[in-house]
Amino acid sequence: PNKSADKSNTAVSTMIWKDNKAEMDKFIDDLMGNMTIEEKIGQMTQLTSGWDVTGPTINENFEQLVKSGRVGSFLNAFSAAYTKKLQKMAVEETRLGIPLIFGHDVIHGHQTIFPISLGESASWDLDAIKTSARVAATEASAQGIHWTFAPMVDIARDPRWGRISEGAGEDVYLGSRIAEARVKGFQGDNLKDLNTIVACAKHFAAYGQAQAGRDYHTTNMSDRELRDVYLPPFKAAIDAGVGTFMTAFNELNGVPATGNEYLFDEILRKEWGFEGFVVTDYTAINELVPHGYAKDEKQAGELALNAGVDMDMVGRVYDQNLKTSLEEGKVNEQQIDLAVRRILEMKYRLGLFEDPYRYSDEEREKKTILSKEHRDAARDVARKSMVLLKNESETLPLKKTGSIALIGPLADSRPDMHGSWASAGGGWKNRTTVPVSLKEGIENVAGNVKINYAKGCGYGLGETDKSGFAAAIKAAKQSDVIVLAMGEAQEQTGEATSRTEITLPGVQSELLLELKKLNKPMVLVLMNGRPLEMEKENEAVDAVLETWFAGTEGGNAIADVLFGDHNPSGKLPVTFPRKLGQVPIYYNMKNTGRPLGLQGHNDPANKYRSKYMDAPNTPLYAFGHGLSYTTFEYSDVRLDKTTLGMNDKITVSVEVTNSGKYDGAEVVQLYVRDLVGSVTRPVKELKGFEKIFLKKGETKTVTFEIKTEDLAFHRKDMSYGVEEGDFQVFVGTSSDNVKESSFKLTQSGAIARR
Ligand code: BGC
Repeated sequence: PNKSADKSNTAVSTMIWKDNKAEMDKFIDDLMGNMTIEEKIGQMTQLTSGWDVTGPTINENFEQLVKSGRVGSFLNAFSAAYTKKLQKMAVEETRLGIPLIFGHDVIHGHQTIFPISLGESASWDLDAIKTSARVAATEASAQGIHWTFAPMVDIARDPRWGRISEGAGEDVYLGSRIAEARVKGFQGDNLKDLNTIVACAKHFAAYGQAQAGRDYHTTNMSDRELRDVYLPPFKAAIDAGVGTFMTAFNELNGVPATGNEYLFDEILRKEWGFEGFVVTDYTAINELVPHGYAKDEKQAGELALNAGVDMDMVGRVYDQNLKTSLEEGKVNEQQIDLAVRRILEMKYRLGLFEDPYRYSDEEREKKTILSKEHRDAARDVARKSMVLLKNESETLPLKKTGSIALIGPLADSRPDMHGSWASAGGGWKNRTTVPVSLKEGIENVAGNVKINYAKGCGYGLGETDKSGFAAAIKAAKQSDVIVLAMGEAQEQTGEATSRTEITLPGVQSELLLELKKLNKPMVLVLMNGRPLEMEKENEAVDAVLETWFAGTEGGNAIADVLFGDHNPSGKLPVTFPRKLGQVPIYYNMKNTGRPLGLQGHNDPANKYRSKYMDAPNTPLYAFGHGLSYTTFEYSDVRLDKTTLGMNDKITVSVEVTNSGKYDGAEVVQLYVRDLVGSVTRPVKELKGFEKIFLKKGETKTVTFEIKTEDLAFHRKDMSYGVEEGDFQVFVGTSSDNVKESSFKLTQSGAIARR
């Protein structure tokens, strides 16, 4: 039944999924009743598009597969014209005319690039984050993309892992709120709206804790840690309506995620009732073989299907083996039917059976891609993502007069502004965006300032060339202020970019320390995708602005902040260690049994034995840290009561005053500590935050509610609930700069798992 001809029914209600379930079920029953086993397996098969100089291409073999109904989806296919061409093949040249679903990594913007996800997360601004996803969906959908492989909601606490740049950082609460914002931004209010795309929560699960920070590596963790820390952002994505899930490359406690029944069947489907479909990560079923979990690809496919994995990304394991597995009785047809149904349901929800070409729209493509509105939004989100780590003697903002020495490998590099998944080179030729470099941004924003530019050095790992130092020193000598643009190359972050050192690559640090000798005000503008080890560099400069990889409008946005057109308000979503040897280091660690001042340890040298001999336990910059050009003062923390029962709530309030010289925004953070538990509890846990804007001299009262259920965790017997006892509550400007109060929870009890 090719329903694509019937275009009468375009304005279907928002609730099509619920309201018209019977109608949808009937449609899919009819369709599946006509499908051969090959066609069913075809729906479970995703291929990747290629590129050549003319743009995206499909090879002949793939074209044949599409026409024979053996492909359900493509990734990496975009542009309105090209997706239309592929879709036409599927709709008009196959027996049943089932449309393809086009997926793509639309991660931080699509053609208009926004800051990398970790950077956006540093804004702690859920509206800004949602806007970014909304703009990305608007551009991507016009190019025929229905589905993004985002958001990545993996909690990450190891900066050696390059993919820390792709997530929301180290914290479960912040990560969960950001997961919701991103899902809502991509999917909009109604999946049938043409400017929306289906989101995909990835990578399920615990991918961020790869051993030693090496990508794809083994993960071992207790079920408690998994459920208390790593899973909640995935659940938050479901509660926000996420349509799909992606498997992870790693193994978890001995079982690779892509063949992991516990994760997909048990938790995702049975516990959480997830109704969307699951796609593998790229060739992840095939990888069950080298993992040593399957003897061959056929068995790998059986394990994946039986674990609840619906679509095979690129690996073609289902395509080539599943029919045999079925004949041999290794899998059953109901399991295949279930997978096919979930995929067809998504196509139905997207309106593809009504009009398979509705997304690919050349006119909309022309109008929306890199529109002024989108670029403005990218600039705004980029400014909000920047974190002022240090600002001695009000070095920043800079004056729009005089001269600056602009030095460093990132000072005039356009492609690096993009960050991973959006770079202009390599396989991403179809990104048409040309980013604004920092040098260009300064020229745009502070045209009267004389710029003495010198690259100074490169940023390659292991690079030793210092031949550019002399020119850099000369430029610095001629200038009032030195602005250094240093950090990582965008290829040094993202997937498969693990590092054993997280220092500034190459000789950047040496150049910085050379320039320090000139005794001029020095500002370090960082561009990087992970926390860096930079204690001595931090010490040497007067100001540090963390800008991540800021996107298409990056240079303009950084200049806006440097010259005070925008007052920075970002806060770190991840801890910056002093030394890599402290890793993993995160704000909500546990105490040891040997804390400071322990009774019986009177020898001062022994007072605090859980320490390093060569570094303090504290980080360089804590989670939540971030300065402003103005200053904020916090009143004492007030509670409306001091005891709390079951199903209860307590109100926490604080007055915040802008006591400095500029208008500005502040992220007010709420943390809680459960002092004693049947299992040990973290020293602090974020439970709320609010970003407020205060005019110079203005005071606002910020109020948070702590509900009993917010205090739940997996208790000793793994039941989810709360335990009576004393709690501390903290409110402040950073996880290590808070005011404190306390309350008592008077009852213990179970809480429904979230
Ligand atoms: C990554 C995924 C991504 C996929 C498709 C994989 O290598 O791990 O995050 O969505 O490729 O491009």
